[in-house]
Amino acid sequence: MADCIFCKIIDGQIPSKVVFESEDLLAFEDISPVAPVHLLIIPKRHIETLNALSPADAELIGKLVLCAKNLAGEKNIAEEGYRTVMNCMSGAGQSVFHVHLHLLGGRVFQWPPG
Ligand code: 5GP
Ligand code: ZN
Repeated sequence: MADCIFCKIIDGQIPSKVVFESEDLLAFEDISPVAPVHLLIIPKRHIETLNALSPADAELIGKLVLCAKNLAGEKNIAEEGYRTVMNCMSGAGQSVFHVHLHLLGGRVFQWPPG
């Protein structure tokens, strides 16, 4: 997608602090973190929202979650706890329309979220 920020990050047109890369995933630091650990994990394929997923994407989304688990271990937040968030559509706070999973940690989180 020509005007997608995250596709540009994947292409290297926009710089980012990459923490993990595989054939189908990229993980990098959020540009305006809301927690001491705030990473974004994205599929390299442009998928606008969770609403666009199909059963064929099950493995990809599974890999996204496993990547979050692995990065939580690497960032030493696995034991204290962390939050994973996937906002879907603007009503839920989605601002970049390329599917991404937030990995947040390093502080206490409230429930329910705002
Ligand atoms: P959303 O609000 O869609 O759930 O999350 C989008 C996230 O992308 C936000 O936390 C925002 O800070 C982050 N973000 C937006 N633009 C950029 C960028 O150019 N680089 C990086 N690293 N993060 C970005
Ligand atoms: Zn994209």
